[in-house]
Amino acid sequence: MNTTETGAIVEVRHLNKSFGPREILRDINFTVCKGDVTTIIGPSGSGKSTLLRCLNLLETPSGGEILFHGQNIGESANIPAYRTKVGMVFQSFNLFSNLTVLENCILGQRKALKRSKAEAEKKALFYLEKVGMAEYVNAKPSQLSGGQQQRVAIARALAMEPELLLFDEPTSALDPEMVGEVLNVMQKLAAEGMTMIVVTHEMAFARDVSNHVVFMADGVICEEGEPHQLFEQPKSERTAEFLARFR
Ligand code: ADP
Ligand code: MG
Repeated sequence: MNTTETGAIVEVRHLNKSFGPREILRDINFTVCKGDVTTIIGPSGSGKSTLLRCLNLLETPSGGEILFHGQNIGESANIPAYRTKVGMVFQSFNLFSNLTVLENCILGQRKALKRSKAEAEKKALFYLEKVGMAEYVNAKPSQLSGGQQQRVAIARALAMEPELLLFDEPTSALDPEMVGEVLNVMQKLAAEGMTMIVVTHEMAFARDVSNHVVFMADGVICEEGEPHQLFEQPKSERTAEFLARFR
């Protein structure tokens, strides 16, 4: 079957990544279909961020393939176009500190999508509204809490109207009281059908919001499956040990 038949947006096949002699990712395989919310869990240092960075080409894979709608992005002539279709939200927000909230949400649209100022503003406002940050358009990031900054970062990514949104531990840098507001936004996006891959230590989110969980350890996928199966009846000892830490 080809990807049009399966509905796959992204297929990762035999992906490898080394830094010098160190093999960081080994034979990674998984598929993400439209509307999937895939969570990636696993200990620190297992290669989760490296995998996300390979997916949006911040890192170049050392081997294997990443297919986007069936096309190998490594061979794609149009990497900038691919990048606009895959958004990323970082642990540390990565907003431009010298720009306002609105300007942060407009910049990428203007530069990469060549949208007019009016259209970019309209989209920015629409998505800032969605994350509950529309009243802060003129604020600078330093005037906002961590949770608010992360919601702006999500609006900025959404304003590009990507097909796939990657989140790398989006709540790990937040004070505990701000984790909920960001997870709520992500849960709402999931309910609206946004296709997302989320690296997280929030096990409740993985269990209750995602429809597919990938457990990574030491650069390999140890186990993957539906949340209820993986959380309640893990097949691998390694998965069970990891999950026990969160009980
Ligand atoms: P995780 O996100 O699961 O904590 P990472 O993907 O950040 O794991 O890192 C996996 C391993 O790859 C770590 O041992 C890390 O030190 C190493 N690593 C990550 N990026 C680089 C890099 N640019 N150069 C060398 N080693 C790296
Ligand atoms: Mg990481």
